Amino acid sequence: MQEEILKLIELQKIDLEILRIERDLQKIPESLQKAQKERDQINKKLELLNTNLEEKRGQKKFFEEELQEEYQRLKKTQARLMQIRGTREYQLLLKEIEEIKRNNKQKEDEILKLMEEIENLEKDKDKLEKKLEEIEAIFNEEEQKFNKFCQELLNQKGKLLEKREKLIQKISQNLLKKYEAVRQKKAGIGIAPVINSICEGCHMAIPPQLYNELQRDNKYYECPHCKRLIYYKKIYVLEEEENKSLEHTQSLKR
Ligand SMILES: [Zn+2]
Repeated sequence: MQEEILKLIELQKIDLEILRIERDLQKIPESLQKAQKERDQINKKLELLNTNLEEKRGQKKFFEEELQEEYQRLKKTQARLMQIRGTREYQLLLKEIEEIKRNNKQKEDEILKLMEEIENLEKDKDKLEKKLEEIEAIFNEEEQKFNKFCQELLNQKGKLLEKREKLIQKISQNLLKKYEAVRQKKAGIGIAPVINSICEGCHMAIPPQLYNELQRDNKYYECPHCKRLIYYKKIYVLEEEENKSLEHTQSLKR
């Protein structure tokens, strides 16, 4: 039973826990993603609707101004009618007045149609804005929940880092270096147990000679396949269960 191996096993647990926390911090919950997506969609719809609404309002204003001018023209034309003596000229003016009236009627209809369209668009806008308010409330709530969750994780991570810092003081530089180097390259796992000849780091069988030596547990060994530090699981797992600080590490796991 080597004290340093025991420390490395504990370090490995802490490092895996930190890794899990870092992964969880990256994972935006589905509920938050869904709310975000819905919010973005409604915002996009609202933008389109507003553009449409502005266009219609502009059109309406343009027609109304045109109509005002036409009303003036009609008034003047009608006034001229009063002063006219000749029948032919009178007939022509009457015709002109009829035409102005006909055109004005068309514009008035156009304006009425626009007013109706604007009214409908405004109703749609109200509905969308209400929906947006609802989804924003959901989004904010979900975001707050996630932020709180992240904060808890960061606290946990802080504690683990402190623990890690203390622990690595008790491990020799060379061994630690070896562990760190393999861990960086091998999916976060620098030290792995071996049970029934199988390295649990790479799931490959180690040679019988090495397996025999490993059970003697009198030096450090590495897996010939994955180069991870290895230990004979049967020696350490029982000890590990008795180790209080390790139990504490486990209790941090969800
Ligand atoms: Zn291996």
